[in-house]
Amino acid sequence: DPAAVEADFYRVKDLLRAEERQILDRVREFLVEKVEPVAGELWLRAEPPLRFIPDIRELGITGTHADDPAVFPRRYLLNGLIGMEMARVDPSFATFFGVHNGLGMGSIRVCGSEEQRKRWLPQMVRWEKIGAFGLTEPLVGSATSGGLTTTARREGSTWVLNGEKKWIGNATFADLVVIWARDVADDHVKGFVVEQGTDGFAARKLEGKIALRSVHNAHIVLDGVRVPEENRLQHANSFRDTARVLKVTRGGVAWSSTGCALGAYEAARRYATERIQFGRPIASFQLVQDLLAKMLANITACQSLAVRMAQLQEEDRLDDAQAAMAKMFCTTRMRETVAWAREVFGGNGILLEHDVARFFCDAEALYSYEGTRDMNALIVGRAATGHSAFV
Ligand code: FAD
Repeated sequence: DPAAVEADFYRVKDLLRAEERQILDRVREFLVEKVEPVAGELWLRAEPPLRFIPDIRELGITGTHADDPAVFPRRYLLNGLIGMEMARVDPSFATFFGVHNGLGMGSIRVCGSEEQRKRWLPQMVRWEKIGAFGLTEPLVGSATSGGLTTTARREGSTWVLNGEKKWIGNATFADLVVIWARDVADDHVKGFVVEQGTDGFAARKLEGKIALRSVHNAHIVLDGVRVPEENRLQHANSFRDTARVLKVTRGGVAWSSTGCALGAYEAARRYATERIQFGRPIASFQLVQDLLAKMLANITACQSLAVRMAQLQEEDRLDDAQAAMAKMFCTTRMRETVAWAREVFGGNGILLEHDVARFFCDAEALYSYEGTRDMNALIVGRAATGHSAFV
């Protein structure tokens, strides 16, 4: 059954219109032809996929689809499926793309003024300027909504930023790093676009990662960094505005975690048909089929949830708790799925030469970033009970 082989069991892609399907197919072709053959090598060398920027530019998938509902009424579904396809081949690639397109550009799209959007977004669509998103700090991860220690102090038409950020994807080479800092005057979180090379800004690559190795994550030090008022995101007035960006990107992680699970499932399905034990392919054993069926059901459940989420986004009706549930649910099912996929490989499942090990490791990062599973569960729990259980 090709729908089971491709893990599009409920035929989600049939929901796309013909021209949208063509875009998705072109993305898939690029990923299979160019990214897949080198993904394992880049991962091992911890090399970011910068070499693919010309291809990404040519595919024309950055920003534009999210911006124009007149051209792409099913834009959230299309973008979601593109993210799923990227992670299906390489979760690092999907993250590298998502940090720029979702977090970096998303901050400017959601929180920037008209002038700021015009100043930065066209260059970012063409990848002439690469974006990053600096929220997490070494000592403040889950608690960023109330506890950011990075400060912003206004001096006339300039802001002075001091503090540290940790885990900031793409920030070692990004041109524009959005830094979220607490305004010492009113205690509210504000967003600042800091240009790479600004005095007092230093980004050091975190070494020794066991997941998403081809994504560069930076430890940033901001030591008296001066940013003009025109680089302060004009519609970012409190953490509520940061959360408006995260609502969209958490939805994106629901799709990419589904893609990561899908990549692992495909590898396991293929291996099960090739690996012979007791004179038969292991795919013919009931216990192995049970694993594959459970994986396929997880993926199908996540896709179905994500499709409904995309419809709500297209109607501008998705709320924070719904986005949090999608992130929580899909990453949990992904973690379960990649473990079952690895199991199908027996000992070979821990060798990097079989891609399943890469998906298995990468899943751990997707599970913890964009708010851990626990944080997203607490957002859902608050919606269900009316009680906040964060502290
Ligand atoms: P902590 O907050 O220290 O949490 C540790 C554990 O305690 C977790 O299990 C958590 O769920 C649990 N916990 C904490 N508080 C509670 C509570 N109240 N109730 C129950 N359990 C709780 N950040 C950015 O700003 N930009 C990026 O580009 C970025 N990219 C990332 C890429 C990767 C690969 C990774 C791993 C992280 C990235 N992050 C980024 C940071 C990420 O968002 C944080 O790691 C995440 O929010 C969790 O914060 P923490 O790691 O400090 O964990």
